Amino acid sequence: MGKNILVYIEVRDSNLEKVGLELLGEARKLATEDVQVKGVVVGYKLDKVVETLKEKDVDEVIVLDDAAFANYSTSAYASAVYDVIKHEDPNIFLIGATSIGRDLAPRLSARLNCGLTADCTRLEMEGEILQSTRPAFGGNIFATIVAPDHRPQMATVRPGVMLPVKDSDRKTIVSTFKWNTLPKSNLRLIEEVKESKTVEKIEESKLLVSFGRGIGSDDNMNSGIEIARMLNGTYSCSRALVDAKRIENERQVGQTGKTVKPDVYLALGISGAIQHVVGMEGSEYIIAVNKDKGAPIFQVADIGIVADLNQLLPILNKLIKKEKNK
Ligand code: FAD
Repeated sequence: MGKNILVYIEVRDSNLEKVGLELLGEARKLATEDVQVKGVVVGYKLDKVVETLKEKDVDEVIVLDDAAFANYSTSAYASAVYDVIKHEDPNIFLIGATSIGRDLAPRLSARLNCGLTADCTRLEMEGEILQSTRPAFGGNIFATIVAPDHRPQMATVRPGVMLPVKDSDRKTIVSTFKWNTLPKSNLRLIEEVKESKTVEKIEESKLLVSFGRGIGSDDNMNSGIEIARMLNGTYSCSRALVDAKRIENERQVGQTGKTVKPDVYLALGISGAIQHVVGMEGSEYIIAVNKDKGAPIFQVADIGIVADLNQLLPILNKLIKKEKNK
């Protein structure tokens, strides 16, 4: 039984998806001295990707570069990655919980006859056993799941949850891998249409002004958005506002939204339900405003302000404007 950790490094349009680097970082944290961290990258025209990966704290990058992998296809990718896993026999195999990862991971776990813990928020080792923690029962508890009897131990993690792997002068081996014949697909790609929506990526912003149901009127929300703009940030929200169709779902933070880690997270009228908190507790500095001093959001806040937003927002907006105009 192998002891190494293998990470699936996702590539789209010949570019690295950052979740792959985050999983390599986590793998390095989990690995003891005698455990190697390896990445497998599948795609087409991967030279640039491989150059980037060579700089990272990774023992080996296994490359499958072929025109057959130019576009993601479940059957081809699952077949080729399966071959790599059989060859490498890793103790652990990690995949990003992206749309591709969520498609690929269950295919692989079924073929490999091993378990799969999806959407983990924490990974730890106990000896050789991976302890995968994820929200369960609607996010009301965290369950730690183990699959000790089968290998590899598989887990998916959403983008933004783990810290990316560091650069290193470790000598990274780059190896090419020859897969078995790919299965004939009964799917044919006719056209690829890129999503034209241009909602800002909240997970990339260094400052988020985040609205909850307690934000109240549209005027309050517009004032909050103006604050976010003045501070060179953007805005996000709790699920309450997505459900109320007041804000698009791309801006939702939390278990069923996005995981964010900005330098500053300003939570306005958010109660702090666990399903929200799991998506923002990694923020560097959390400021929460709520009129209820017992609101759970204050338990994760660095600064908690007990105030009514109807009164506080106009004052805050004016003060920031004044500072900006100085
Ligand atoms: P509320 O809970 O209604 O809180 C509003 C807060 O505003 C209160 O604390 C109140 O005191 C305060 N307030 C009211 N008026 C004012 C005022 N004038 N000034 C100051 N403060 C005021 N939620 C998410 O956010 N993200 C998720 O990804 C997510 N996923 C979920 C997944 C599942 C399976 C389930 C079951 C739930 C999920 N939820 C998620 C929902 C979550 O449980 C909460 O219902 C939601 O986060 C509540 O949103 P909120 O804090 O904006 O609203």
